[in-house]
Amino acid sequence: MILLDGKKTSQELKEEIAAEVTAMRQQGQKVPHLAAVIVGNDGASLTYVSSKVRSCEQVGFESTLVRLPEDTTQEDLLKEVAALNANEAIDGYIVQLPLPAHLDEEEVLLAIDPKKDVDGFHPTNFGRMALELESFIPATPFGIMQLLERYKVDTSGKHAVVIGRSHIVGRPISILLSQKGDFANATVTVAHSRTKDLKALLNQADIIVSALGVPNFVKADMVKPGAVVIDVGITRVEDASRPKGYRIVGDVDFEQVAEKASYITPVPGGVGPMTIAMLLKNTLLARRRAQS
Ligand code: NAD
Repeated sequence: MILLDGKKTSQELKEEIAAEVTAMRQQGQKVPHLAAVIVGNDGASLTYVSSKVRSCEQVGFESTLVRLPEDTTQEDLLKEVAALNANEAIDGYIVQLPLPAHLDEEEVLLAIDPKKDVDGFHPTNFGRMALELESFIPATPFGIMQLLERYKVDTSGKHAVVIGRSHIVGRPISILLSQKGDFANATVTVAHSRTKDLKALLNQADIIVSALGVPNFVKADMVKPGAVVIDVGITRVEDASRPKGYRIVGDVDFEQVAEKASYITPVPGGVGPMTIAMLLKNTLLARRRAQS
């Protein structure tokens, strides 16, 4: 079994990005600038956003954190989005989801300039990705594709079963795996909450991508010997023995499944760190595209 080490791979990616930024600085070019908008005080969202901002600093990007109060109106949030669209200093930005319940996420995402949409959630980017045109690929599926590429995992003609059909993970990764190209060309089945006999389906899979968010859902008896197992799930489970009072658990019963898999991602330290690295990659791409 080979561990698909997202911590190590994301570190390598960050070093490559940092080297490019250093060269940009030396050539007197503008360095990438990422902004992140967060509305309210949700603990997990604040943690994610601060680690995104910290990562920008690590690679030499400029970063701006826009913190808005919980009771921000839709109109005020849209004004903020319009200001970021117009601000030439900002190359890319994200609006951290989920937004408080009174706000309309779809309207906000649609208002983001696709050229600055480094999360790749705007329909223009999603459509362009599906058509294999230049776009921003959502960071989590982009990170999975990078892991497969960097570990040279053979995906061509393999049967991939993706569990989950969300717009940010399941659906885009199913499109990317089925596209023409190296480390793609897979035959993809998308499973979801209405899928019948998932166990039988998973037992036929050469590649499993699990993105449903149920701890230890994928057990060893669901996995074919030699399968490639990508665990996207991140669930906080209460654990009084940990300093934070919780631990992070994936969708896959790692101990058991690792014994059968050819490649497997751990949680934490697999897909999670890759997601942040790919957000940085998208921001660098946004700067390069603005430049040319
Ligand atoms: P979501 O909650 O939007 O969707 C879950 C999907 O799972 C749905 O499409 C649903 O149909 C499917 N599903 C639910 N029960 C099922 C069942 N019994 N059998 C088959 N399919 C079932 O999911 P999401 O936003 O894609 O997130 C999924 C998980 O990935 C969560 O744990 C989330 O925290 C995690 N996540 C991790 C990263 C990362 O960086 N590693 C990024 C995004 C999401």
